[in-house]
Amino acid sequence: MAEKGVAPRELTRPVKVGDVVVGGGAPVSVQSMCTTDTADAAATLAQIARLAEAGCEIIRVAIPSAAALDGFAEICASSPLPVVADIHFDHRLAIEACRRGAAALRVNPGNIGSWERVDAVIDEAGAAGIPIRIGVNAGSLDPAFAEREDLTHVEKLVGSATSFVEHFRSRGFSDIVLSAKAHGVPTTVEVNRALSRELPDVPLHIGVTEAGTARQGTVKNAAAIGALLMEGIGDTMRLSLTADPVEEVNVAWDLLSAVGLRRLRPELVSCPTCGRCQWDLMGIAAEVERRLAGVRAPITVAVMGCVVNGPGEAKGADIGLAGGRGQAMLFAGGEPIRTVAEADAVDELFSEIERRFS
Ligand code: SF4
Repeated sequence: MAEKGVAPRELTRPVKVGDVVVGGGAPVSVQSMCTTDTADAAATLAQIARLAEAGCEIIRVAIPSAAALDGFAEICASSPLPVVADIHFDHRLAIEACRRGAAALRVNPGNIGSWERVDAVIDEAGAAGIPIRIGVNAGSLDPAFAEREDLTHVEKLVGSATSFVEHFRSRGFSDIVLSAKAHGVPTTVEVNRALSRELPDVPLHIGVTEAGTARQGTVKNAAAIGALLMEGIGDTMRLSLTADPVEEVNVAWDLLSAVGLRRLRPELVSCPTCGRCQWDLMGIAAEVERRLAGVRAPITVAVMGCVVNGPGEAKGADIGLAGGRGQAMLFAGGEPIRTVAEADAVDELFSEIERRFS
């Protein structure tokens, strides 16, 4: 049980995935997974470059067969991000990935086939000095828990995860990150709360699996990951979406910013508009959001519908615009800077951002 005022993530044992520390109170890191064919190293490295630019900190690639191993080695040698090898079923691929430059492994011990094979992977990762992310989901439970009718799904996930961790430790291996994934929000939250209680020193990789396409997936991930992060649970996260993985990273950063943990980029504050709005707020907000993609300063920018209430409602913003009829007020910290013509408002806002924050 965490002491009062101490976030559970401050009590986990830190492990290093390449240069990125996971656990021990380190900043919650953002991960994603390549959608390219790992055998095509050039395409995968190009996708990793886009993900790194968006703020991804750890990248995972699938090794579905031995045909991917040469590409995997090439990717590890040139990737700007630490590369995690994602392996299911075939323990020989995991062993080979350790020898080809993996910064970490992700395996689900429940689908590797036998403890002997799991032990061979543990020993090879130990020799390579890299951590293992132990994954557990409905399809990879410990057989000792899978068929038990007296247990709930959450209890099966937690029981399996706990037994896997105990096994790894009994083998002398402690560089562990744990993930127990489900596609429902309540299950995801409940499982991770229980793991944080039962295994308080094990860093947790959190996320919702098979969360869905951009809109539904964003909502499910934000609800589950957001709730856990607010409780201090979760050391690293992957916000999985059926979308371009760059979008996963963008949404992950927006979520970290929204819960007040980390900020990489500007945050846009805009009002919902009401009958007092006298300018094209939706169009202006969309334009500001688009142009903010090129700004790195972690500032808060407001775009408000009216001069009467806008600057006051957005007092916490570093800078903003509040619209009127044919003109807008440029303000900072709730105080006016100057009045600008509506047609020039966005350009004026960005010149002021450039002047003050770059
Ligand atoms: Fe309405 Fe003005 Fe508030 Fe926007 S800022 S919701 S237009 S009162």
